[in-house]
Amino acid sequence: MRTTITSADLLAVLAKMATDMEAQKDYLCALDGAMGDGDQGVTMAIGFGAVRKVLDSLKDQDIGTIITKCGLAFNATAASTIGALLAIACMRGGREAKGQHEIGLADVGRMLEAAQLGIQERGKAQVGDKTVLDALAPTVAALKAAAATGTPLVEALKQSLAAAEAGVKATIPMKSKMGRAAWIAERSVGHQDPGATSFYLMWKSAVEYLTA
Ligand SMILES: [Mg+2]
Repeated sequence: MRTTITSADLLAVLAKMATDMEAQKDYLCALDGAMGDGDQGVTMAIGFGAVRKVLDSLKDQDIGTIITKCGLAFNATAASTIGALLAIACMRGGREAKGQHEIGLADVGRMLEAAQLGIQERGKAQVGDKTVLDALAPTVAALKAAAATGTPLVEALKQSLAAAEAGVKATIPMKSKMGRAAWIAERSVGHQDPGATSFYLMWKSAVEYLTA
């Protein structure tokens, strides 16, 4: 059973994420179209296409560098609100794993928490505003709780994915307070948030690979 995540694992996770996000393009665009401008799936697919292109050049790098460079590659090619938030999340998260070629559960929790704080600051959003934070924050909480109780990595990752999924579902009745969707805040009620869904799908991709 896996107890750590190496740089090579991370590169494989990112390649799988790129494939999975491309496959979810139409689904994410449909979600975004119900309450926003309908471009979420296209943005994610273009951004991850750029990430895939830099993976080969990152083979001998540490985990912090890999994550930071992937976030920057995404936003350089798919400049957007989600691109800017992903870039800050990757920079903050990557900083927590600077110089490390192998990480454990506590590191993963710290990295995602740093990413969450970066997104909160940059996006000026809070949990409950119907954003990516509504999936990310419960994921962080689950990882930290699991680390505190000595839960094995694989079990902790599965628990965190369940928390992310519950967080995504919880966005359905929420009224959007951020971004373009705020223009049609009332209309957003009843629709699952595309940003929260994007994070959930990315995390699902990672957890599937790491727990297989
Ligand atoms: Mg959009």
